Amino acid sequence: MNLEKLLRENIRSLQPYSSARDEFKGEASVYLDANENPYNAPFNRYPDPLQWEVKAEISRIKHVPPENIFLGNGSDEPIDLLYRAFCEPRLDNVVAIEPTYGMYKVCANINDVEYRKVLLDENFDFTADKLLSATNLCTKIIWLCSPNNPTGNSLNSKEIIKLLESFDGIVVLDEAYIDFSSGSSFLDKLALYPNLLILQTFSKAWGSAAIRLGMAFASTEIISVLNKIKYPYNINILTQKQAIKTIQSAIQVKDWVEILLEERTKLIDSLKELEIVQHIYPTDSNFVLLKVNDANEIYKYLVDKGIIVRNRSSVSLCLGCLRITVGTPEENNTLIQALKSVS
Ligand SMILES: *Cc1c(COP(=O)(O)O)cnc(C)c1O
Repeated sequence: MNLEKLLRENIRSLQPYSSARDEFKGEASVYLDANENPYNAPFNRYPDPLQWEVKAEISRIKHVPPENIFLGNGSDEPIDLLYRAFCEPRLDNVVAIEPTYGMYKVCANINDVEYRKVLLDENFDFTADKLLSATNLCTKIIWLCSPNNPTGNSLNSKEIIKLLESFDGIVVLDEAYIDFSSGSSFLDKLALYPNLLILQTFSKAWGSAAIRLGMAFASTEIISVLNKIKYPYNINILTQKQAIKTIQSAIQVKDWVEILLEERTKLIDSLKELEIVQHIYPTDSNFVLLKVNDANEIYKYLVDKGIIVRNRSSVSLCLGCLRITVGTPEENNTLIQALKSVS
């Protein structure tokens, strides 16, 4: 892969904004360079534009060097930046599995980039060959999500490797649900594949959707491109501090995941007993996709009872399906009790 060639011309030649904190990086006792108010510490100062303290903590638990990490305002930010860096509007295209997470398509539309869908098979899995046959010379990115949303399953890792070895553009592997998976992350393969970019997030297992922190892991070359075009201070200091706290309480996260996986098993067992449930798809995530007798009716019935699930019945291959997030034991019980009394 030739990253320079893959980049849009305007990004290749871009002179990025140079902030006060870019121009002076060391320690000093008097800062008079950024027009900040000298009072109201610690919020008066601009935060570290490259979030090195947070990255050091992430590096420690993920075993990826800090230089191979990009932090964004949710995963949404790196998703959007990848289009802006690599896809020339109306000329280039991207290929994605279908169905999958909706933001890849929304960001393609916002950036006026053609989005090519390749339908998953009956097991919600894919082959590298089928995805590759949807590409052409203008395909810059392939979007994969494993475990996939909304289907819940992990994708075949041999096919992921085959794709990485045969595609000349960027392969994004969204691992938002990896902490719930029985399979392993591709993080340890990062050094093998210069075209691989892995997305993870604080929003799911880490219990921190509100702080908006997404992680992208990739070669230093790809990370430098993202750093070059991001807003200078994209991660605020409150988020940076809270992220460090959350990482330092990793044991708590492990406990949550353990509880949620047990609850997932119990939830599936209870759902199996219900007459309205036609099929429960295998899951490697913290949610369950199920086919029910009348998804729209059941969805409305649950809303009336104050229980909100995700109606996915209009999504490709998910006809008649609801997606249910695993909650606390009490929440799951409330759901099951309500479903038992559907007439
Ligand atoms: C929830 C989710 C995310 C998380 O997005 P954030 O912007 O980090 O909150 C990313 N990818 C997938 C597939 C998801 O389901």
